[in-house]
Amino acid sequence: MTAPAPNPRLADLTATARATLSDIYSRHEHVFLGFSGGKDSLALLHVCEPWRDRVTLLWSNTGYMAAHMAAFVRGHGERWRLVEVSPERDMLDDWSEHGTPVDVVAIGHLEGLDWNSPRVRPWPLCCRQNRMAPLVAYLARFERPCVLLNGQRQSDKGTTPERMAEIMSSNVTTAMPLWAWSTSDVLTYLAAHAIPLPPHHGVFQGSMECAVCPADLKPGRLRVLDRFEPHAAAFVRSTARISLGFVAARTREIEAVLAETAPPPPELRPCRPMSSASPAGTDHRRHST
Ligand code: SF4
Repeated sequence: MTAPAPNPRLADLTATARATLSDIYSRHEHVFLGFSGGKDSLALLHVCEPWRDRVTLLWSNTGYMAAHMAAFVRGHGERWRLVEVSPERDMLDDWSEHGTPVDVVAIGHLEGLDWNSPRVRPWPLCCRQNRMAPLVAYLARFERPCVLLNGQRQSDKGTTPERMAEIMSSNVTTAMPLWAWSTSDVLTYLAAHAIPLPPHHGVFQGSMECAVCPADLKPGRLRVLDRFEPHAAAFVRSTARISLGFVAARTREIEAVLAETAPPPPELRPCRPMSSASPAGTDHRRHST
């Protein structure tokens, strides 16, 4: 078997990430790593290998992760210190009160307006409540100064260090050592180090956080659910169709209003001859030469 070709970019990125971590560990006693079992947190975990005894994996478990993924995440607890945090109440009860997460919103179904029922809400609000809030609460209760390492990358256009700082308690510093890495860098790193990936990685490389989530729908995610969690797949399809129906109904109402009230098309008149339309003293006719 031939050795993989040297990859200077990845070597530089890895060295920079390790330098960042070295600096963090020289200044902080308590370091957590937000861990979901996804490719980014797996790569970050491996970069942290030199500090294995000094990092605690923090897994925000909504209680609805696909079973094969929950087992994959828990498996990392055999080699690393792993802490599992969860929402205070069942996530589906939270949906009942505040709305089902959706990609597109018919605003009459939003909490606070409540012109129509049932409620829906933009999915980032659900993630904030059911995935981020337990993590934020755990670290706030920790009280001592600590660092939360996060595998977020800039090219993914997700959260930023600034936004994380806004929601974290003052004892927490957030660091994103893979910020400059591309998706391809992460996949190359994982392959180069033969890091075991989630069982569904060949079909879908994105997040499988909540099997029942009807938002952020992607074909690969549904294919994985069809294979690993068929009941959840059916639930996701029917729930997404219901919320899409709310949007479609409002879309039809708006289209009907626009059609009913559209002004008549402007009356068509024959054009005036060019010569009479020209300003006085101007002759646009071609001169023969
Ligand atoms: S993944 Fe979906 S269901 Fe899970 S917390 Fe986020 S929005 Fe809510």
